[in-house]
Amino acid sequence: VCSFHNFTKPLKNLGYDEHMNTIRTYQVCNVFDSNQNNWVRTKYIRRRGAQRIHVEMKFSVRDCSSIPNVPGSCKETFNLYYYESDSDTATRTSPAWMENPWIKVDTIAADESFSQVDLGGRVMKINTEVRSFGPVSKNGFYLAFQDYGGCMSLIAVRVFYRKCPRIITNGALFQETLSGAESTSLVAARGVCIPNAEEVDVPIKLYCNGDGEWMVPIGRCMCKAGNEAVENGTVCRACPSGFFKPTQGDESCMQCPINSRTTSEGAINCICRNGYYRTDSDPLQMPCTTVPSAPQTVISSVNETSVMLEWMPPRDSGGREDVVYNIICKSCGGGRGGCTRCGDNVQFLPRQLGLTKSRVYISDLLAHTQYTFEVQAVNGVSDQSPYSPQYASVNITTNQAAPSTVSIMHQVSRTVDSITLSWSQPDQPNGVILDYELQYYEKDQSEYNSTTIRSQTNTAVIRGLKSGSIYVFQVRARTVAGFGRYSGKLICSLNLINDPEYNTSIQEKLPLIIGSAAAVRSVMEFAKEIDISCVKIEQVIGAGEFGEVCSGNLKLPGKREMFVAIKTLKSGYTEKQRRDFLSEASIMGQFDHPNVIHLEGVVTKSSPVMIITEFMENGSLDTFLRQNDGQFTVIQLVGMLRGIASGMKYLADMNYVHRDLAARNILVNSNLVCKVSDFGLSRFLEDDTSDPTYTSALGGKIPIRWTAPEAIQYRKFTSASDVWSYGIVMWEVMSYGERPYWDMTNQDVINAIEQDYRLPPPMDCPNALHQLMLDCWQKDRNNRPKFSQIVNNLDKMIRNPNTLKAMTPLSSGDILRIGVTLAGHQKKILNSVQMMRAQMNQIQSVEV
Ligand code: AMP
Repeated sequence: VCSFHNFTKPLKNLGYDEHMNTIRTYQVCNVFDSNQNNWVRTKYIRRRGAQRIHVEMKFSVRDCSSIPNVPGSCKETFNLYYYESDSDTATRTSPAWMENPWIKVDTIAADESFSQVDLGGRVMKINTEVRSFGPVSKNGFYLAFQDYGGCMSLIAVRVFYRKCPRIITNGALFQETLSGAESTSLVAARGVCIPNAEEVDVPIKLYCNGDGEWMVPIGRCMCKAGNEAVENGTVCRACPSGFFKPTQGDESCMQCPINSRTTSEGAINCICRNGYYRTDSDPLQMPCTTVPSAPQTVISSVNETSVMLEWMPPRDSGGREDVVYNIICKSCGGGRGGCTRCGDNVQFLPRQLGLTKSRVYISDLLAHTQYTFEVQAVNGVSDQSPYSPQYASVNITTNQAAPSTVSIMHQVSRTVDSITLSWSQPDQPNGVILDYELQYYEKDQSEYNSTTIRSQTNTAVIRGLKSGSIYVFQVRARTVAGFGRYSGKLICSLNLINDPEYNTSIQEKLPLIIGSAAAVRSVMEFAKEIDISCVKIEQVIGAGEFGEVCSGNLKLPGKREMFVAIKTLKSGYTEKQRRDFLSEASIMGQFDHPNVIHLEGVVTKSSPVMIITEFMENGSLDTFLRQNDGQFTVIQLVGMLRGIASGMKYLADMNYVHRDLAARNILVNSNLVCKVSDFGLSRFLEDDTSDPTYTSALGGKIPIRWTAPEAIQYRKFTSASDVWSYGIVMWEVMSYGERPYWDMTNQDVINAIEQDYRLPPPMDCPNALHQLMLDCWQKDRNNRPKFSQIVNNLDKMIRNPNTLKAMTPLSSGDILRIGVTLAGHQKKILNSVQMMRAQMNQIQSVEV
């Protein structure tokens, strides 16, 4: 329905289209009259939310040159206009028939005009043109077509807008969305995940373009754990009973592995049937397993007081490949007929528990005694079974035996070149002692160059020794059954013979000589004096507490030149400072272990006074890690930790409490071997608070962040407090040298520990390692592991790298909530977030 202004009204059957169908048209053909201005206007058209309107026009135009005698004013084009209005208010005269108020969309020309006329009417060439306009914002609009002197007919007008349809794609539903105001506009639409699906990473979006097509998908939704995508990804369906899906994702549900089942639909894992189990590290796809049956046919062969046991693996391994064996030793017939567990002195080779091969060598049993050995078979799930492991047992009786170890030896007296030693009888002679064999060698020399002498009694005078040298002595007893084992090593020096106070020697495994006054004597005892002419200083590499630390070369007569570190004592020192400085050498000189820094010697007879140690190419561990952030594999890091633990085990066995175990006091060589260093005493003796790492407390300075609470509170320093510090070192290593507790104040750290807060796992730190840290940070020091257990634990991890795979992931939500791009400070922020997540709300005074 249209309004007209000089246009002719439509007539039926007025003409034919190309297919000779009769059609109705609006037409005008006043080419012989000048000043034409003819309009046709549509009815009011509602906008219906569209922002851009498209108009498709079908029309025909007569070719001016085909009309005889036509004037020059003949036109072959017309104009398209629109007019917006909130209601249908147009009349015959309003809006006025002119541009402005009407808005012109375009001048429309025909692609083809026509020139012929046939008898039945006109054969028209029908043109189709599409134009669009926008943005439109009122409730509706009119369209108008203006002729200004042509011969044309308007056949059809189609008015439309474009929209993107409602769809389900990428796991989300998108509602119908209208195209934007410009043909190039992209209208963003948020999708809603279909039921049981959830967004992956970022919010899901699509864009609707000007042509009504969806494009540029961002993000996606995936079926949640326990649900799988079906019906072309438009539905997430719960896994049927007997199937499971452990994680979000596109995978299908999997059938429950053997010996497991589900209890309901939508399972995220399958639970093991009664009597079957999984370890924490078993994949969910793996069948559930059970405990092994007993080992088969144990065979024993007794040799004096030792026995070799061998057996066959169990008939049923429980479905696992991690079967190992434990040996339970009971000695029987000890008078009252019952059996009791064997004492600690019985030796098992390779070990008593966790044997991987089906054989063990057991020695140091009592002579002429009856024993029962139970060989248990256990595997990774034995701990979970309520029953004790199945075992096979064997009874044996030992024969005659060599004497036990001579346990105590001491020096009675000495001269410039001789020493008199005495020792006690073995606890278990196992017969009549025929004689003792004494072996000795110079401490600098190999044990293979030792000399042996025999003695019928338990004393001996050893003559012809080199004065000024240090000797190592060992003794063993002999019976008809042969030699017993050697005693511990006794180290004696033929130095300082004129010192009237000097009459002690150091028994290994007895408390070390520590302490300023004792230290001076013992420097000479344990540290070799080096002539300065053997030392070549090259360059300064660091600053020690008493002076510069340099690198250089040491060339001892008859030995190869070696690279060494040289600590110097700065000039102007007091006598006490000199003592404290050298005390480190006196302590270090008593140690000999691949993970403890090795002392080469001291220079005390010339100035400056020096301590010379092996050279550690990579310097201190904390700096080294910071410089190589993220560069090592977990196994490499665990290898470093293993070395440190092994060095600490050695020190603990020597009854030495370090008190300042921290990454800064570990040195690293070019093979990444870590060695415990820094045996300085001064920090326990002086009260200097200039270094913020060490907080002064009554009687010494304490590195708060590294120190166990009982050591801070009442100075209870033990190997167990060293274990706490070791846990902190683990954290430093796994976070590549991050500062423990970041920038919390010392007081806040103390309060937080008191409230049971513990450091969270560093980024990418395997659960097993963080668990070990938490064990080291047990409040009750008796519950902390021993260094030997830590070493074993780390060895296990190194042998089974799979145990290092499980991590506590940080969810992407945490990252987004921080609201910053995670760049250089990423690790710090992540650590802080984890920490906050841990227990931060309990602690008020901490700023992160
Ligand atoms: P210290 O007085 O033991 O803390 O040593 C100060 C610094 O000197 C350390 O942090 C190391 O960077 C360096 N340093 C000490 N001993 C050695 C060594 N044996 N090999 C290489 N660098 C060392």
